[in-house]
Amino acid sequence: MRLSKFDFHAPKTISEAIELLQSKGPDARLMAGGTDLLMKMKHGAVKPPCLISLKSVPGLNAIRFDESAGLTIGATALLSEVAEHPDILRHYPTVAQAARATANVQVRNMGTVVGNLCNASPAADNPPIHMAMRAVVLIEGPGGKRELPLDEFFRGPGVTALLPAEIVTGLRVPRMPVNAGTAYHSLSARGKLDCNAVGAAVMLTLKGKICEDVRLFISACGPTPLRGRKAEEMVRGKELTEEIAAKAGAEAAEESLPITDLRASADYRTEMVAVLTRRVLKEACQMALTSQPA
Ligand SMILES: Cc1cc2nc3c(=O)[nH]c(=O)nc-3n(C[C@H](O)[C@H](O)[C@H](O)COP(=O)(O)OP(=O)(O)OC[C@H]3O[C@@H](n4cnc5c(N)ncnc54)[C@H](O)[C@@H]3O)c2cc1C
Repeated sequence: MRLSKFDFHAPKTISEAIELLQSKGPDARLMAGGTDLLMKMKHGAVKPPCLISLKSVPGLNAIRFDESAGLTIGATALLSEVAEHPDILRHYPTVAQAARATANVQVRNMGTVVGNLCNASPAADNPPIHMAMRAVVLIEGPGGKRELPLDEFFRGPGVTALLPAEIVTGLRVPRMPVNAGTAYHSLSARGKLDCNAVGAAVMLTLKGKICEDVRLFISACGPTPLRGRKAEEMVRGKELTEEIAAKAGAEAAEESLPITDLRASADYRTEMVAVLTRRVLKEACQMALTSQPA
């Protein structure tokens, strides 16, 4: 399969990239690593007349950690860089784990976390944990800069809340609260050469053994990653026993919206939502318990 013809631009600033997006029209496409976009072009699913690479914008690949502001991941920071960054491994281990769980080493050395979000696949590996951790999308466009909670970013498969000519410049993830735990698990039929059939991520905080707050997100079981609100209600204000974890898993399965496709049947997905929800809740609880002062 051959790529259709396109103009290629490598702007040196975000303002220049925005101007290009405006002047080249709605069919022009931004490119970070190209691991999603070029595949779609090879398959003829999209035929953009113009590609605007963000890779030449200096500093856009930065990963910064600050005790009060938290973590900022620039738009061109690679999946492999996020997976291995010492501050992320230390303060956001599940963010590193999700990046490491994405694709294979070749793709991780080209693709970006922000590209994974902007591609807006409901099965993508990185959105659920960032949503659970209250990440905020940093956006720049013709109207200036704005920030949007990641929960509000996804509008459907391949569709985001970005306005025409807007660019995601990065992602900010707040510091994990004290006594918090996080976890992420996914399943796919053919390992990392296939999209996920189902995924679940959670962040919870404990007071003693009681779960004070919890944010659970399920992927690949709806048009966007879904929040498991009823499952959260089952857990909030309680000790996370085996019984409560199982009931929360059943609630998450009930509120997910799986379909049958070539990756898995709806029935399998429903059962696995319950299993993964139980698993991430228990793991996150364990992490939160061990982070508490003795
Ligand atoms: C073999 C293979 C295996 C894969 N396995 C997995 C997997 O296991 N899990 C998984 O989640 N994904 C997987 N993927 C998908 C893909 O690698 C990821 O989604 C990757 O993170 C995309 O990042 P990128 O930088 O390459 O994005 P690109 O392909 O450059 O861009 C993706 C989309 O986002 C838009 N975009 C990119 N950056 C911005 C920005 N800053 N602002 C606005 N829009 C932007 C582009 O216009 C495009 O529409 C796989 C892909 C391949 C080829």
